[in-house]
Amino acid sequence: MLIVKKFGGSSVADKERIFNVARRCVEDYQEGHDVIVVLSAMGKTTDGLIAKAKEINPRASKREMDMLLSTGEQVSVALMAMAMGAMGVPAVSLNAFQVAMHTNRQYSNARLKWIDSERIRMELENRRIVIVTGFQGVNRNDDITTLGRGGSDTTAVALAAALHADKCEIFTDVDGVYTADPRVVPNARKMTEITYDEMLEMASLGAKVLHNRSVELAKKYGVQLVVRSSLNREEGTIVKEDAKMEKMLVSGVAADKNTARISLIGLSDKPGVAFLIFDALAKKGINVDMILQSIGRDGTKDISFTVPGTEAALARETLESNLEMFTAQKIDCEENVAKVSVVGAGMATNPGVAAKMFEALYNANINIRMISTSEIRITVLIDENETDRAVQVVHEIFELASGK
Ligand code: ADP
Ligand code: ASP
Ligand code: MG
Repeated sequence: MLIVKKFGGSSVADKERIFNVARRCVEDYQEGHDVIVVLSAMGKTTDGLIAKAKEINPRASKREMDMLLSTGEQVSVALMAMAMGAMGVPAVSLNAFQVAMHTNRQYSNARLKWIDSERIRMELENRRIVIVTGFQGVNRNDDITTLGRGGSDTTAVALAAALHADKCEIFTDVDGVYTADPRVVPNARKMTEITYDEMLEMASLGAKVLHNRSVELAKKYGVQLVVRSSLNREEGTIVKEDAKMEKMLVSGVAADKNTARISLIGLSDKPGVAFLIFDALAKKGINVDMILQSIGRDGTKDISFTVPGTEAALARETLESNLEMFTAQKIDCEENVAKVSVVGAGMATNPGVAAKMFEALYNANINIRMISTSEIRITVLIDENETDRAVQVVHEIFELASGK
């Protein structure tokens, strides 16, 4: 069997944990399986590197940021290979260049395009455990790119797809995917299974337990994922096409504090205005999420939307320098906002879900700034400092807690 095992930063944070991971991987190897291990940077290394860069140049280019951030993963894989070596097990560490993992050119948020599997196959044939850097890739210029925060999950799924692995396990610091972040809602329930679509919504809406693009890739290539703890032997959560679980009205609640709201006020009420605005943002690679347009009145209208907080400054600059072209009278930007969402395949056919979510927020006196919906999710924009409380009351009203 070919097994891909991915371990996040907290799972390789120190010497003891590195050896703990090494032992888990060696177990599979000694049973005769081929093992590929994907690692993140140790502990909070990536955050530390970002802080260092900010001290030197807060507006450093994305290319240089990727050059810097990719070093964290290289440390982990080398140390892991050394740990296995110390245990007398043949292992080899490889970075994105050596594999090679090719991405597009978008520094800091690159997409994997194709993976060369030859080197890995050769190492596996020589009965070595192959340890690959997560999160990083190489672009057409032979420059290092990174896949976006949390991107090691995507590296693991991409390798599992490219090498037709039999199993792809994502080890982390919680026992699986819960109905809400267990750090915010202590009585959240662990799910035994979740569908790709629900997991994709949860991940895209802020449940960082899986990188959203890893779920997208897993769905596209039919890679069944298991999310489980690196610290115990619990079963974990299976992410797959058709979860047999009861079609829950609501499966989970997610929150995203990395959100900013931008409004363009007093736009001409004529065709083409929205196109100009969102085209300018798209050209800068800025992801826009909730979009709200007011009805035209006296020849003008307003458009509000959300962008990731980390892209707010760039979005603002892009728009501010072109206010006249967009026909906007004013731009307004707010960063202390957060998205809270409920996700569930069962809500597509049930009209009561939105009202129930709004009731919970009303009872908690939490004001809703914007609302957006899809077939299987409802998202509201609220004040950032009310995020945790909102997640708790919404989780409560849908009775998602364990034991209910
Ligand atoms: P890793 O370093 O292993 O990649 P992450 O920090 O990226 O780990 O993701 C795991 C974290 O995701 C958990 O510690 C938990 O706080 C958070 N999380 C958010 N939403 C959920 C959820 N619905 N289920 C489980 N964990 C969640
Ligand atoms: N080390 C990277 C990060 O902290 C990638 C990852 O952990 O998946 O975002
Ligand atoms: Mg992660």
